[in-house]
Amino acid sequence: MSEAQTPLTVALEQLKTAAEKLELDPGLHCMLANPKRSLIVSIAVKMDNGCTRVFKGCRVQHWDARGPFKGGIRYHPNVTLDEVMALAMWMTWKCAVIDIPYGGAKGGVCCNPKEMSKGELERLTRRYTTLLFDLIGPYRDVPAPDVYTDAQTMAWIMDTYSQIKGYSVPECVTGKPLSIGGSEGREEATSLGVVICAREAAKRWGLKLKGASLAIQGYGSVGWNAAKIAHDLGSKIVAVSDTAGGIYSEKGLNPYDVYKHKSKTGSVVNYRGIRNITNEEVLETKCDILIPAALENQITKKNADKIQARIVVEGANGPTTPEADKIFHEKGIPLIPDILANSGGVATSYFEWVQNLTREHWTLKDVNQKLENKMVKAFNDVHRMAKEEKSDMRTGALMLGVGRVAEAIKTLGLWP
Ligand code: NAD
Repeated sequence: MSEAQTPLTVALEQLKTAAEKLELDPGLHCMLANPKRSLIVSIAVKMDNGCTRVFKGCRVQHWDARGPFKGGIRYHPNVTLDEVMALAMWMTWKCAVIDIPYGGAKGGVCCNPKEMSKGELERLTRRYTTLLFDLIGPYRDVPAPDVYTDAQTMAWIMDTYSQIKGYSVPECVTGKPLSIGGSEGREEATSLGVVICAREAAKRWGLKLKGASLAIQGYGSVGWNAAKIAHDLGSKIVAVSDTAGGIYSEKGLNPYDVYKHKSKTGSVVNYRGIRNITNEEVLETKCDILIPAALENQITKKNADKIQARIVVEGANGPTTPEADKIFHEKGIPLIPDILANSGGVATSYFEWVQNLTREHWTLKDVNQKLENKMVKAFNDVHRMAKEEKSDMRTGALMLGVGRVAEAIKTLGLWP
């Protein structure tokens, strides 16, 4: 296979590997290779300067055999339908791996939030919600934040949905602010899950998280929170990056100070007294644990050989291509795959949904304990599967996730 991979070619290749190993019926394989439903929308938005612009958006619902669709919404200038299809498919496997009763979905809007005002983003979000209205809802499809969307975006979705319904429906969306039914711990949940996986992987492969050196690509929600949590547990953050580049310190960076610097200047680079490095150099930093937490297709055939980390833990969705996976496997570098490593976010989204449906509010301690239990169980399930199959953790996780979804589809039957 050529290295001209897209997220969808990667997702389909991964599915093929799992389907072959599980000896799936070809018809079932074909069903899982295609999303159940995709909706493309044109979102007309009144801009601050008075003109009207039309943004392309979509929502892809992959499979819901194990429960309602669930998945984030991404605002990014390079969003494509193919990318969203891949992300929706990964959500289906992820919800099955972490064993929560959801199927997979994803949404995307092709826009550049960095160049839009808060008012423009609000109008875009509300109009997009009305266009999705018939397809989403607490028992149909529950959106959440993803790249360049946040708790405020979710609040606008909840309000728009509730206004149309005529009553408050907090359970229609997760990742909300606490004041309107968000869960304790949701903001950090993905990163806490990533760090729990890093800790479990370190244990299995003869390292300790405390004192381990970490390099992190991407300093947004997942990257920064992972840096903070790992730092608080005694790890040393040696390199971080964002779209503008990276920084490196052998002695270790203080992630809180780096965050303040990024909030003030817009980037982690040019931090006083700290060496700037390129994004490629961040990935290739000599360290114990590498956490890609930016976007897809970052570790490919071209740079996998140069990675010097002892363990890779995927915070982002789809950062590693199958060819790079193979290189890691041959080199004996364990990789904890996205559908396991970053599943803490959707697990706590599920906790938020349950709290909303039952009108309860759990403590942070309760939420994090439930997350810890889920993550450790999923990690052990995947590790056992990989060991039985003599495969890498990615194949183990895919076999577990795809296998559980296939089983549910077979049990439900095909109607009519
Ligand atoms: P975010 O928008 O908060 O942050 C993304 C970060 O990546 C930003 O700092 C940006 O500057 C940086 N970035 C973008 N392109 C880059 C590049 N080429 N090199 C280096 N840095 C780059 O997004 P997020 O919510 O942190 O999501 C990051 C990844 O994690 C995505 O793949 C997302 O799908 C995945 N994810 C997020 C969640 C969640 O709860 N937010 C859950 C599961 C998976």
